[in-house]
Amino acid sequence: MNFKVPFSGRGHKYTDEEVKLVANVMQTAIPLTQGKYRDEFEEKFAKYLGVDYAFTTNNATSALELSAQMCQLSKGDEVICPSHTFTSSMYPFIKNGGHPIWADIDSETKVVSLESIKKCVTAKTKVIIAVHLYGYCINDIEAIASFAKEKNILLVEDVAQAMGTEINKKKAGTFGDFGIFSLHSHKNITTLGEGGFLIVKDLKYANIIPMLRHNGHTTFDYVRDKYWIPAMGNLDLPELNGLYLMPNNYCLGEVECALGSKLLERLDDLNQQKRDRAIKFIDSLSHFELIKFHRVESMQHNHHLLVGIVADGKRDLFINKMAYEYGIQCVVQYYPLNRYDLYEKLGYGNANCPNADAFYDNMVSFPFHIWMPDDEFNYMLEKTKAVLSDLKL
Ligand SMILES: *Cc1c(COP(=O)(O)O)cnc(C)c1O
Repeated sequence: MNFKVPFSGRGHKYTDEEVKLVANVMQTAIPLTQGKYRDEFEEKFAKYLGVDYAFTTNNATSALELSAQMCQLSKGDEVICPSHTFTSSMYPFIKNGGHPIWADIDSETKVVSLESIKKCVTAKTKVIIAVHLYGYCINDIEAIASFAKEKNILLVEDVAQAMGTEINKKKAGTFGDFGIFSLHSHKNITTLGEGGFLIVKDLKYANIIPMLRHNGHTTFDYVRDKYWIPAMGNLDLPELNGLYLMPNNYCLGEVECALGSKLLERLDDLNQQKRDRAIKFIDSLSHFELIKFHRVESMQHNHHLLVGIVADGKRDLFINKMAYEYGIQCVVQYYPLNRYDLYEKLGYGNANCPNADAFYDNMVSFPFHIWMPDDEFNYMLEKTKAVLSDLKL
């Protein structure tokens, strides 16, 4: 079906200046990966977040994989993760030996809370994955971080959707031991479709990430007579807490890094544009009892996605009318992970997450790419009103 307002897989467009920059770096960068543009991008993003160490990766899933390796899980170690999230918040931790414990979401904020996490904690808990889903920086992330520290549990923040959000002037992704960001096509800013960041607090992680990210490449620790012998560079195993980790190749190219640096300059502006539009949409519908939103007007929410709850079991009727009467492609997002074949086959099909289940069964996600023209956005708003009035009868 050809939708008039499709749910786009692309978050934003590029300016002429950005296109020129890409063309220029394409032709001039030597090498095309692992060079000065990567260093510049990492420095700029670390500064933006107010942290010491930021590492680019080829996507957020790779950053999650690296953090999962550095958590050094043993069989039976438990990893708490919301069932209501994107799959790569969790599966890299299963690959690395973790046993998922599904946490529920808070029915108001749609993300995990200290309370929902505490219910899952046992003596075997090794890691908590806090996902700032929909672009909302978890309200009690500070309390979750203190709790994790006190219990000696590692905290991973999945900030794939919430780049640039903050609470008490501290950026999402800087509270935990690991912070993960995505630069995927659909996200807040994108480096040509794929890209990511891994933020770490502790120097012991920062020291090994370059090797862990790039095939175990390192330098020789002795002076060589001939620079070409025994080889151009050395290979070694990254070591953490006395144990070796297997390396990967999760690098991001120079063109992407150069573009990403440039895009950082308008990240706050892109987020503000989304926030303004979301608030306009939400406020224009506030008199309809049939739909409810999580309204947050501050930097705590970038409204990466525009999601609401349709009451009275009318969600599917709502989406049906939007799609087939008006050509607006609303979707439903984040099928609870435990319900997927993938997690069921692994033996992780059971969860006690009534809020996540109820939200999934009643939620609607509107098309909300920032490059949607104003007339399309206004059309969607008007038709949403029409459908809601219709369904009220
Ligand atoms: C998109 C997303 C990811 C994965 O990001 P990639 O860069 O595509 O690997 C992880 N977690 C969440 C919550 C996401 O939305």
